[in-house]
Amino acid sequence: MPSFAWPGYHRRMLKKPVLTAVVALLCLAAAAACGRTADEAAAPAAAPIQERDIHSFAQPEIARVTHVALDLQADFTAKVLSGRATLSVERAPGATEIVLDTRDLTIEGVTAPDGAALPFMLGDADPVLGRPLTVQLPSGVDRIVVAYRTSPSAAALQWLGPSQTAGGALPYLYSQGQAILTRTWIPTQDSPGIRQTYEARVTVPRELRAVMSAEQLTPDGVEGPGGRTFEFRLTQPVPPYLIAIAVGDIAFRSLGPRTGVYTEPSMLDAAAHEFADLEKMVTVAEDLLGPYRWGRYDLLVLPPSFPFGGMENPRLTFATPTILAGDRSLVSLVAHELAHSWSGNLVTNATWRDFWLNEGMTSYVELRLMEALYGPERAAMLKVLARRGLEEEIVRLGGPTAKDTVLHVDLAGRDPDEGMTGIPYDKGAAFLELLEQTFGRERFDAYLRSYFDRYAFMPITTPRFHDDLRTHLLAGDEALDEKLKLEEWLYAPGLPDNAPMPQSDAFERVEQHVRAFADGAPASSIDAGDWTTQEWQHFLGSLPEQMTAAQVADLDRTFGLTKRGNSEVLFAWLRIAVRHRYQPAMATLERFLTSQGRRKFLRPLYEDLMKTEWGQAEAKRIYETARPMYHSVATTTLDPIVRGG
Ligand SMILES: [Zn+2]
Repeated sequence: MPSFAWPGYHRRMLKKPVLTAVVALLCLAAAAACGRTADEAAAPAAAPIQERDIHSFAQPEIARVTHVALDLQADFTAKVLSGRATLSVERAPGATEIVLDTRDLTIEGVTAPDGAALPFMLGDADPVLGRPLTVQLPSGVDRIVVAYRTSPSAAALQWLGPSQTAGGALPYLYSQGQAILTRTWIPTQDSPGIRQTYEARVTVPRELRAVMSAEQLTPDGVEGPGGRTFEFRLTQPVPPYLIAIAVGDIAFRSLGPRTGVYTEPSMLDAAAHEFADLEKMVTVAEDLLGPYRWGRYDLLVLPPSFPFGGMENPRLTFATPTILAGDRSLVSLVAHELAHSWSGNLVTNATWRDFWLNEGMTSYVELRLMEALYGPERAAMLKVLARRGLEEEIVRLGGPTAKDTVLHVDLAGRDPDEGMTGIPYDKGAAFLELLEQTFGRERFDAYLRSYFDRYAFMPITTPRFHDDLRTHLLAGDEALDEKLKLEEWLYAPGLPDNAPMPQSDAFERVEQHVRAFADGAPASSIDAGDWTTQEWQHFLGSLPEQMTAAQVADLDRTFGLTKRGNSEVLFAWLRIAVRHRYQPAMATLERFLTSQGRRKFLRPLYEDLMKTEWGQAEAKRIYETARPMYHSVATTTLDPIVRGG
């Protein structure tokens, strides 16, 4: 386990004598902790904090938030949420203050529940982490009320004008908390290891509806003088990045006893058709992973600017509309978000360097679900695509010795968003696939179910996971530990040589066509009549890096690629179009870049454009038009690529 050090900002925050006093008190309180250092001392609450989170100012071993109660008003004109957060606090004996995370929040006051003012102090601002908010805790006070307002540029919140929605008539608001953006709209301890339950009362303009990642207590809202008020409650403790809200012209359709879809009215039919298998997916996931512990599982299909494919907010997955392909070919994304109900939401990465435990596990389970639902050939194709993506990602990150290709990635001094590469997803999934192949499905599946039980509603670190594997899967077999190269998988860069090599017969047939086409056969000789989305992705991704202008035009003429509605196929085609400066696709490229904000599509296309002089001019021109539509998560990635610096 890595050694622990107080980061500088923690040292700044807590005056030394106070720390010493608190540690002494902790030692008094927990005899077992005496003789150990502060970081090793027991946390006061039930869930252990296993590793200091360098991306939070919180001092959970001294005082921690256990419950958040929000009372907020949404002002769409000012683009501000304002109101109160009442935080329930547990503290070590003798602790006299609590440290919260904030970023770009205006704190209007902090009081005890009886209204008595509590002294507070905002620390220096860090551009990534924000500002620590330290509140004095008089004895007997176990709840504090923070009155505050958000900034119009709060990084988690995107306020969309009517023209940026499908309906075009009403505004929209949604939040994206992961990784450390919840602190831009809620003053709490914003660390994935500090689980909190929450409730909320949200007042919005009366023509709009609010939904959250929680149980709806008033689905239609209650009319009042200030608008329409909606109430929510989540009784399962979650990491704060999973507290999420959306407000807009939102309709609902049921898909099963515990599943349904929310979206703008004009997209409801398409969404309900695309996700018809949702209820079945939950049942299949339970068969594999054990009980679904969150009550309902609904989807919210967002306006196109949403920066991710999906976000696994509990009870209500947020999803991009770019997966509405019309033929259910992109629902693996929903399987992924559903799988997070176990890996990520139930058992959570303790810090952001353990992110692969959320995403690798989820990507592995996603493929298992796809196999159970749509058969082994579909799963095999997805595995081959993931493997190719992983190899490309390793190259993009600097090759097999690059430090960002380590699963237990070092994020010290960096925005945790920089760790959100393909590595935690696809290298993590490959590792778990290796374990499955080594131990067989029966044993590995039993291990997975026991893992989710053992760590339910708890944080997990990479070293802890390694220990757990040794104990419960390898049963202490050290030779096997070495043979499987567990250390190398978890702590070394690149892809170990025992990584499974997936294979797909369907893709081999596709590759034959690629070879023939590269050798001069016309596109019309390619038998692509019944190709799935995945076969198209593989075909386009396998074509030679450089083709003749006539070949590119032949492909487009024969298969109508520039006119494709399927976002994955169109994306793969547009990369080819950019590489070859294929003029007939440029209007479609511009429309694609200005009509959706999914970072996975945007980053490679802008990067490709920036490689050439003509492309740079195009990229800069399109970006300045499109940028106001993109979420901050996307612009933080794209600004350095397109604007430089
Ligand atoms: Zn995920």
